[in-house]
This record gives sequence, structure tokens and C-alpha cells, in this order.
Amino acid sequence: MKHDCHYHPGDPAKWHCGECQIHYCSRCMPDADTRQRRALCPHCSKAMRYLGAATEVVPFWQRLGAFFRYPFHTDPLIVIAICTLVPVVAPANLIGILIWLVLALALFKYTYAVINHTAEGHLKPPAVSVAFTGSGFDIVILQLLVFVLMGGLVGAAAMLGGPILMLLALAFVILALPASIMVLAMERSVGAAVNPMNLAVLISRIGTPYFLLYGYLILLTLASGAAQDFAVNHFPFWVAQPLAGFLNSTFTLILFHMLGYLLFQYQEELGFASDIQDETAGQDTHQRDRSARFDADIDMNLKDGNYDRVQSMLKEALKRDRDNALRIGQLYQLLTARQDTDELYRYHPRILGWLADRNDGEGIAGVLATLQQAESGFKLEDPDLSVRCARALYHRGQFKPALRVLQDFHKRFPDSEQLAPAYLLVAQTLANGLSQWEKATAFLTFIQKKCVNHPLHEQITVYLELAQNKEPLKGPKASFSVQE
Ligand SMILES: [Zn+2]
Ligand SMILES: [Zn+2]
Repeated sequence: MKHDCHYHPGDPAKWHCGECQIHYCSRCMPDADTRQRRALCPHCSKAMRYLGAATEVVPFWQRLGAFFRYPFHTDPLIVIAICTLVPVVAPANLIGILIWLVLALALFKYTYAVINHTAEGHLKPPAVSVAFTGSGFDIVILQLLVFVLMGGLVGAAAMLGGPILMLLALAFVILALPASIMVLAMERSVGAAVNPMNLAVLISRIGTPYFLLYGYLILLTLASGAAQDFAVNHFPFWVAQPLAGFLNSTFTLILFHMLGYLLFQYQEELGFASDIQDETAGQDTHQRDRSARFDADIDMNLKDGNYDRVQSMLKEALKRDRDNALRIGQLYQLLTARQDTDELYRYHPRILGWLADRNDGEGIAGVLATLQQAESGFKLEDPDLSVRCARALYHRGQFKPALRVLQDFHKRFPDSEQLAPAYLLVAQTLANGLSQWEKATAFLTFIQKKCVNHPLHEQITVYLELAQNKEPLKGPKASFSVQE
């Protein structure tokens, strides 16, 4: 069953909200905790079902070679070597037995970890440390309990319904054993692992592939048995014992890796993830990555056509963080797309500043044109911003708008430090852009007379000379001559 993301058709869905019936991909859920398989629906904030990689998984019968290679990685080989070789050299007394017991326990724990690890989508074996550290050693006792209860089930069937019912029960137990091991590994609950309903549902949801897997398991078990038999019969005891142990461990790892992979492949149908999620849903709202979540929300709302909502979200974000360039840019794109002149007017200082930072002369010209259309005498009120905008306009060949931004600069901002750079820019625009050398000379002369204390003053004679010869006004300062 393949689902695409509701907002990104073509991208496989990773999450599903049962409440809203919407599928989300990982791009939509940047704040999701894939390791813990937890995510809250962006629409209703309910816990969602993790679909994982179910839609992309290669069926297990197409990667049999990979299963056989699985134990031959460094980590499992170390675990197997420790757990099968150390007991051989261990002393034959109580301590030796203790060592043997502990190592058997570690190996057991490691093999069950293989199921979880694989079901989570890790196709490489878990680290060595998994076998010897942390909790989870109780899995041995749990598995023993499962066997005892299953034996009890068969016994009870025999007592209640005679041999026929007993055989049926036995057949079911044998058939359901892999399913039971999978459930136990995933849920660590004896009750769930022996509940016939639970196991029947699991088997029926997987369907035919379960029986296919079962066939492989039988073949593997037989092969393992034959190989161990061969080892015992053809080698001296001190070689045969560890060799048989090694073979047994590798085959077990292959088997358990297969069980885990079946879970991984059918996780969507099995709904394992949702069972784990529900217990702790809603606890980790604070862990959400706010910014990434915000972007995904904006994206979704845009695709849903909720432009008002996006606009208010962006404005809200800009209240908290005035100069967030990302949000300003998004607001700019939204406002220009919606042709919302009022809001554009309200935010124009920040938007123009953002555009100037990006040297987006066309964008600046567009915003200014819109604002001037709405208010015929519109002028920027910030001298620094005016010069920055004019410079961006000039560099993008928007000469007329550049001149307009700086019009009457000396009257509007008589005391501004920016007066000299502003009029040098005007001179350059007039000369280099519009070939109006006389006008350019007039502005240069103005700087020469009025801005005596400005550092630019020293260079004015050079500019005047250039203007005289009708040569481009190239400044010694790189910032004035980027595009020339
Ligand atoms: Zn998506
Ligand atoms: Zn929802």
C-alpha cells in the first residue's frame, strides 16, 4: 500500500493522521521524532501513525543474499566470537558456568536486539555494546515465560478437547512461534506475545509472505542443524564445540534479522509504531524544532490556500524576531503575490532592506512602483535605506528608480552622513547610466562644495576629471564599481 504526501505528491508518506486522514512526508514533519516514531499532526496536534519506510522497502524474498551476509559484520562477529569462544577456555567449575551463563544471556539479548534494530530500518547489525550493556536482559525470562505459557496452552487444549484439539493447538503454537518472537521483541510483553488473537491478526495482516518466511525459517533451521551435525561428527571436540556454537549463533542472527525485516517491511499494515506512540503522545511538544516546523506549516498552508493564515503567522513571527531575514523574504513574496499594498506599505522598510541586502534591484523597483502607485508622493524616510536601495537599483541598471529614490536628498536629509555617497551615486547613475555628464558634474560639484568633511571629498576631483572627459565614473572604492 503506497501513499504519497498530501502536500508533496510523489514523495512517499511517512506519517498518517487518523483524525484528519492526511498523509505527510518527512519534509512536512521536520519536527518529528523518527527514532521514537513520534510526531504530532500539524493540523490537529494528535499523535500520528509512523509509516516509516514501508513504502520503499525491498521485499525480503528479494534480498536473501543480504540476510546471509548479515552476521558477517564486525559487530556481530565480535559478539559471536566472545560468546562462543570464551566459554571453551573458561574453567570447568562454578565460575566457568557463571561466565557461560552471562555470555549466553548477552548473546540472547543481542539476537533480540537484532529484531528491533532491523524493524526500525537499520540494515546493519547493532553495535557490540548492545549485547553487554543497558537493560533488556529480562528478555530471556520473558521468552521462557512465553514458552511455558504456550506449553500450558497446548496442555489445556489436550485436557479440554482431547488429542485433536491438542494437535490443533500445537500446530497453531508452532505456526505462530515466529510471530510471537516478533511481538515479544517489539513489545516486551508476554501477554501480547501469547495472545492468540494478537498473533492471528499479525499473521493475517502479513499474509502469504509470513508463510514464505516460515518456509525459509524451516530450511535455515535444518541447514543449521546439518552444519552443526557435520561439525560435531568430523572434527575433534575442541574444534567442533565452538564451531557448532558459531554456526548456531550465525543462523540465529540470520533468522532474527529476517523476522525483524518482515516487521520492517509490513510496519504499515502491522501498526507497530502507533502502539508505541500512543503511550507517550503529547509529552514532547517542547522538543519541536520550532523554525523547521514553522516552515513546514507555512508550506502546507500555502498549498491549502490559507494565505491569510500564512500572512498572520509571518507577521507574528516578525513581532518576535524583527529582523529575521527568512521571514521578511517570505512575507515579501506573499505580499507581492497577493498584491497587498497596505501590508507592503507597513513592512516596506524591512522588505526593502532585505531586498537591498540581496542586491535585488528589480525587486526594489517593483516594490517602489507599487508603493508610488498607491501614494503618488511616496518617499523613503530612512537616508541609509534610500542609499542602499539606490545602489542596488543602480547596479541592476534601474537608473530612473535609483534617481527617484535619491531625489532631493540634500533637502530631505540635510544632515545625513549619507549625503556624499548618495550624490556620488546620483552622479554615477546620471553619467554611467544615462550619459548625462553635465548633470553628473553638477552633483559632483555639490559634494565638492558642501561635503568638505566627508572622506569621499578627496576623490571628487578625480571624478570631476572623469566627467569632464565623459569617461565612466569609476571609483577607487570597490563598493561603487562592482558591476563596471
Ligand atoms: Zn510533504
Ligand atoms: Zn490531524
